Amino acid sequence: MSDKYQSFTQSAIGKVLVKNLGLPSPAKLERYAAGAPLVKGTVLVGGRGRLAESLDGLLGELDATSTDTAAAGARFKGLVFDATGLTSTSDLVALQEFFTPVMRSLENNPRVVVIGTPPEQLTGRERVAQRALEGFTRSLGKEIGKGGTVQLVYVAKGFEGSLLSTLAFLLSPKSAYVSGQVVRIGTKNASPAAEQVDPKKPLTGKVALVTGAARGIGEEIAKVLQRDGATVVGLDIPPSEDDLKKVTPDYITADITAEDAPGKIASYLEEKFGGVDIVVHNAGVTLDKKLANQKADRFGTVLEINISAPERITAKLLEQNLIRPNGRIIGVSSIAGIAGNLGQTSYGASKAAVIGFVDSLAEELPDGITINAVAPGFIITQMTAAVPFATREVGQRLNAMSQGGLPVDVAETIAWYASPASTAVNGNVVRVCGQMMLGA
Ligand code: NAD
Repeated sequence: MSDKYQSFTQSAIGKVLVKNLGLPSPAKLERYAAGAPLVKGTVLVGGRGRLAESLDGLLGELDATSTDTAAAGARFKGLVFDATGLTSTSDLVALQEFFTPVMRSLENNPRVVVIGTPPEQLTGRERVAQRALEGFTRSLGKEIGKGGTVQLVYVAKGFEGSLLSTLAFLLSPKSAYVSGQVVRIGTKNASPAAEQVDPKKPLTGKVALVTGAARGIGEEIAKVLQRDGATVVGLDIPPSEDDLKKVTPDYITADITAEDAPGKIASYLEEKFGGVDIVVHNAGVTLDKKLANQKADRFGTVLEINISAPERITAKLLEQNLIRPNGRIIGVSSIAGIAGNLGQTSYGASKAAVIGFVDSLAEELPDGITINAVAPGFIITQMTAAVPFATREVGQRLNAMSQGGLPVDVAETIAWYASPASTAVNGNVVRVCGQMMLGA
């Protein structure tokens, strides 16, 4: 399941054609290798605001070399700008003054993070200025090139010390296919980060349930959570048992829509582990048809698998107090749930409902339990390999990185939410889409 166009653009003849015909030229994206440093290179820090004092310490914990001066000839892997001190739109020119001189001094796969204050917590001119940061970062994401990413992180007041797991994700190759995103820290009833973790093995001692773990994105989520130290309980339908047991020795075979599935899952987790720390609702299906040709059973099946079953399983686990304090619930939405897609009224509704599920639970979960979701764009899996060539090409190229993502890109985003240090990350929906042109 490789991207043949991307391989072609890296051949001698491909390079000539790309240059002369102005064809999209997908950069090679670096992925994280277990045990490697999170940031390989220097991070330039700019701006003056609430984060100024804590940023150097945070970057030090990531083993990143940081500096606040751009010496002549220096190259940068990352740029972090604390914009929390910008209190009116006339201050925004500070962004241009910091970024313009260094935009040509970036290494390959550079990482840019702008930090602001959630506008909804502000009033007047400061609110207007902070809202402007979204347009700035989303535009920079579309022009940075070289496989670079640009994000905006809104940090609520009082949460300055809760940024470590988020910077570890956004400044490292783990966020290879995440760009143009707005992350909120410390909003929606979140608690400040409490547990200290080893950034290289943050999930040591944690138990994670991953549904749909036998193949595709779910299999990769299981592997990444295991790499980070978790014990993974995989779940998939009975015909997938052979594949599932290769992923993890701890597994449940069930159709999540079966009436007894929530009870079966709860009993397994209780008896074997006394509870669960991380629940990833990844199992999902598409049964595409234009609405004019749709049948009630197919429409209903998509909704049952993609959202009603995750709702019932979550309710059961919460009711029986099986999700431990500082636990994590993670949904898998889709770009189709944000932008809509032809033939996908059922799928789009189910994936928008995953976002609704995050919104509805984020304010009411007890004991530091959080809920967040990922919304993948075009990810190269068996599901998308079946898409006809022309549609697949459009899906793969219509994003700022001119390529599809890999299952590992979704898995790494989920591992960031799952970290015990991400307690302040609650109620977010982050797209893993290479900044796709579709939707917001
Ligand atoms: P996939 O079809 O390769 O894997 C889905 C897994 O879920 C399979 O192992 C399947 O057996 C399991 N499953 C399906 N119905 C089930 C049920 N009723 N009970 C238990 N298990 C069940 O799909 P994928 O591409 O890996 O997608 C994983 C998730 O990511 C899905 O929720 C999908 O909607 C979402 N997603 C995928 C993409 C993409 O580009 N591949 C894009 C956006 C969202």
